[in-house]
Amino acid sequence: TRILGIEGTAWAASAAVFDGATDDVFIESDAYEPDSGGIHPREAAEHMHDAIPRVVETALEHAHNTFDGPADEAPIDAVAFSQGPGLGPCLRIVGTAARALSQALEVPLVGVNHMVAHLEIGRHTSGFDSPVCLNASGANAHLLAYRNGRYRVLGETMDTGVGNAIDKFTRHVGWTHPGGPKVEAAAEDGQYIDLPYVVKGMDFSFSGIMSAAKQAHDGVSASSASGGSSDERRESDGGTPIEDICFSLQENIFGMLTEVAERALSLTGSDELVLGGGVGQNARLREMLEAMCDQRGADFHAPEPRFLRDNAGMIAVLGAKMYDAGETLALEDSRVDPNYRPDQVPVVWRTDEPE
Ligand code: ATP
Repeated sequence: TRILGIEGTAWAASAAVFDGATDDVFIESDAYEPDSGGIHPREAAEHMHDAIPRVVETALEHAHNTFDGPADEAPIDAVAFSQGPGLGPCLRIVGTAARALSQALEVPLVGVNHMVAHLEIGRHTSGFDSPVCLNASGANAHLLAYRNGRYRVLGETMDTGVGNAIDKFTRHVGWTHPGGPKVEAAAEDGQYIDLPYVVKGMDFSFSGIMSAAKQAHDGVSASSASGGSSDERRESDGGTPIEDICFSLQENIFGMLTEVAERALSLTGSDELVLGGGVGQNARLREMLEAMCDQRGADFHAPEPRFLRDNAGMIAVLGAKMYDAGETLALEDSRVDPNYRPDQVPVVWRTDEPE
């Protein structure tokens, strides 16, 4: 099976070709980078409008160059696209592109849930059978496990996604988007300070820790409010070194995710954990999860970075599994869904029987 995948839920305009016979995944991506502030939905959509045709053209060129079938046949079997969740204006552009391509190439459409794709790419690259998955991405943070034909949400954030929480702090201190890698770099020289840690059962919350981190940066006396918005400043106005705030943010936020991941392993009896999402590129998060899995005798897998951050490779890989299971979309059912939840997806491509 050969699938063209298209991704564009937020910042990454991306197209990919997955070849089931060779397991090769070709990915071409073009990132939207805001000049200041966070991701602006309209600007992100304009980026999709410009970049999607370009990345698709490159991916299709690759598909043609690696295709040894008849010249009058399409070099792919189907077009898979991220149907949601994500920013509506971005999703609509990707949906339109996918429909147009499917009609022009006369191949079926496959609608992929972006969060299930973050999970399935880890299952694919690890070869694990039935792992628990921690999705730690920009707009999401949740634990998923398979049961009775669905991926169930075992635990999740009660407020923002994990990457967005970190990005809000870095925006506050004047660092450019995305903030995650900058916090990771600054944390190397930091020491622990006390910040909130909120886990409630299987769920967790980031709003308290983000407010406390901003306050620690500004100084509790708020005397720094006139500090201006100097770019990329490394010094905290309030006396708490920014390195210490970054270090402690990572320790607490990733500690919360690791605690709930462990509880999910314990609850399901699974001894396999996979990591998904852009925050999964963080070495400290991977180290904590690895140590926790080691202690339980569980196996841990984090896909390579190109599969962790948003990318069309994961859309094409899950698209192939869905296509092979006959899960193609009629045009009238191909509407995008900004709030598409992972547990809405019937997992028809897995043949394992529920316990
Ligand atoms: P979603 O998949 O939920 O739609 P998203 O589209 O925002 O999320 P991802 O590519 O999964 O995108 O993740 C992007 C997030 O990853 C950003 O918030 C960014 O700050 C964060 N991030 C990237 N690298 C790192 C890192 N090294 N450490 C921590 N966070 C990181």
